Amino acid sequence: MTTVAFIGLGNMGAPMATNLSQAGHTVRGFDLVSKPSGIELADSAEAAAADADVVITSLPNGMLVDQVVTSLTEADPTPRLYIDVSTIAVSQAREIARKVAEAGSRFIDAPVSGGIVGATNGTLAFMVGGAEEDFAAAKPLLVDMGSSVTHCGAIGNGQAVKACNNMILAVHQIVLAEALVLGQRLGLDPRDFFEVISHATGNSWALSVNAPVPGLVEGSPANHEFAPGFAAALMLKDLNLAMQAAHDTGTDTALGRAATEQYAEFVEAGHGGLDFSAIISAVEASQPPAAGW
Ligand code: NAD
Repeated sequence: MTTVAFIGLGNMGAPMATNLSQAGHTVRGFDLVSKPSGIELADSAEAAAADADVVITSLPNGMLVDQVVTSLTEADPTPRLYIDVSTIAVSQAREIARKVAEAGSRFIDAPVSGGIVGATNGTLAFMVGGAEEDFAAAKPLLVDMGSSVTHCGAIGNGQAVKACNNMILAVHQIVLAEALVLGQRLGLDPRDFFEVISHATGNSWALSVNAPVPGLVEGSPANHEFAPGFAAALMLKDLNLAMQAAHDTGTDTALGRAATEQYAEFVEAGHGGLDFSAIISAVEASQPPAAGW
């Protein structure tokens, strides 16, 4: 069993820290705002990290991860393992890892898929970048918070696969909305559309789990007025990280870029709190180009 400092006890961090504590680890948490019950709380990140073998961060962005990790390595240079489970830029994860190594500690990126439900049920999917021995050290903790833990290679690669996955997902959800609206306007009943496509080559998670029309998939956000789920604002955050990675590597991701623009407009119009599948309302409201296809 491990002594863990858990920094960032928000929607994801609080249930993850609770699962670690329930699995028998000693967990001390800290959050600037959120004070969840069920785990021991400290008055500062430094106090939470005193005597901890492992520090886990679950924070809104890479700048905050950098700030928290840097201040902890400066306050206490004792070698330990830092595990960041936030979603941040690939380049930022690599830069933080470099600084942590300079300070004599270790760092891995371990972003997650599965949302608040996965965090609560301990069924998250972890995608991990970092040295083999650091992955091996982190794995016993990650399996207490998730049902799938994959080592994807060098530092930053966890964030890389997360950015790629969510770019695919965003494009799928938009093109599915386009096809559903087109099909309806051609006279198709969405139930027939669903029955055929979910057994055909156009199938995807966006359809089989997250269908954006009520009555097609039990439990999909469309059945609950698009309560997330995975909020459009978080999808936009991840798309921006994917676009940054595309820029850094000189990769043209035309569809990813178009999806980023559509989600940016959707969030700007005030819908950032809805599930990202609610983008179908923007498709329904949009007008085709004046001439041609
Ligand atoms: P959240 O905003 O609910 O929680 C973040 C917490 O960090 C907040 O409680 C905030 O008070 C705290 N915080 C901010 N700065 C701090 C500091 N300096 N010290 C201590 N605490 C600080 O966000 P979340 O939904 O829990 O997401 C956390 C991370 O997980 C994000 O990077 C997000 O992109 C990623 N993620 C979220 C989901 C999801 O469905 N919510 C899914 C996958 C990944």
